[in-house]
Amino acid sequence: MKYNRTFNFSAGPAMMPECVLEEIRDEMMNYRGSGMCVMEMSHRSKVFQQIVDEAEADLRELMGIPDNYKVLFVQGGGTLQFAMVPMNLMKNGKACYVETGAWSKKAIAEAKKYGEVTVIASSADKNFSYIPDCSDLPIPEDCDYVYICENETINGTTWNKLPNTKGHILVSDQSSMFLSKPCNVSDYGLIWAGVQKNVGPAGMAVVIIREDLIRDDLDPKTPIYMKYKTHADAGSMYNTPNCWAIYCCGKVFKYLKSIGGLEEMHKRNIAKAKVIYDFLDSSKLFKGAVVPEDRSLMNIPFVTGDKDLDAAVVAASKEAGFDNLKGHKSVGGLRASVYNAMPIEGAQALVEFLTKFEAEHK
Ligand SMILES: *Cc1c(COP(=O)(O)O)cnc(C)c1O
Repeated sequence: MKYNRTFNFSAGPAMMPECVLEEIRDEMMNYRGSGMCVMEMSHRSKVFQQIVDEAEADLRELMGIPDNYKVLFVQGGGTLQFAMVPMNLMKNGKACYVETGAWSKKAIAEAKKYGEVTVIASSADKNFSYIPDCSDLPIPEDCDYVYICENETINGTTWNKLPNTKGHILVSDQSSMFLSKPCNVSDYGLIWAGVQKNVGPAGMAVVIIREDLIRDDLDPKTPIYMKYKTHADAGSMYNTPNCWAIYCCGKVFKYLKSIGGLEEMHKRNIAKAKVIYDFLDSSKLFKGAVVPEDRSLMNIPFVTGDKDLDAAVVAASKEAGFDNLKGHKSVGGLRASVYNAMPIEGAQALVEFLTKFEAEHK
């Protein structure tokens, strides 16, 4: 198969399935006889209501979301959730966070504004290159929730086993791994994900929240938009939602169903990441930045150990037609983000390129 678009290794916004983009193009000027583009539609119209309803129903089916969980489409991307979670879930004003990298650090900093935050485990000692053991942590009885970032986009780690929360509510930021593998929703009190990493266009988060955690007795100064209850009561349409993102995400949900759901997606993601990890493990020049057991299937940071050489790889990769391989400044080196929509051909082409680069720089 010839792939004639750019292999975009960006950490986000990222690639979307080509067939989804084609469908969107075909519906651009006249969505199913409505005479309008979805961008032009009233969010109160029947035709848009059907788009939202189908998006939610398809997501519920894909993830097997139990009936006692609400699905919310909220604007503000991922970052708004750093505040919304503590604002809504801190009943006793106490929460426990696991610090595994850049995104959990941001979540911790924001949560501290709203209550007492205890960092119960951290991998800061080794530059966030692993997931700490969370099988038996000291979690205070009155802690409102335990928070994790389930895939650290910048550091390239992922949780293969969830923490033992000792009966407390688990909250997870799944932004950079959402829908990349099957998920047992009832293990969590709340899952949220900014959609621009693994699903659709930027500017929206999906929140999956157990109904009993939706409260109304919040600080009266809480902005109306920042109460989960506002969105739950209004079917995510209290105000004008991000109609375009909901529409595009809905298409991706249908696409995932069509290929065989999250189990099939997971298989493909494992095969794709293996192409790159196998290369890194055998390379004498490049080295992965994460311990093998905690490696992410989605974000793969790697280095040569020499800053100038790293920069040369990035420059050569651009010339070879790849994009966004530069690593985040906090880790350095390179990073290949290979989300759901990256075809395996992209991983193979990257390895071919890196192999050639290595041969030329012995
Ligand atoms: C990108 C990202 C965010 C922030 O998302 P924005 O929509 O840019 O606010 C939060 N958490 C993780 C894990 C991310 O990868």
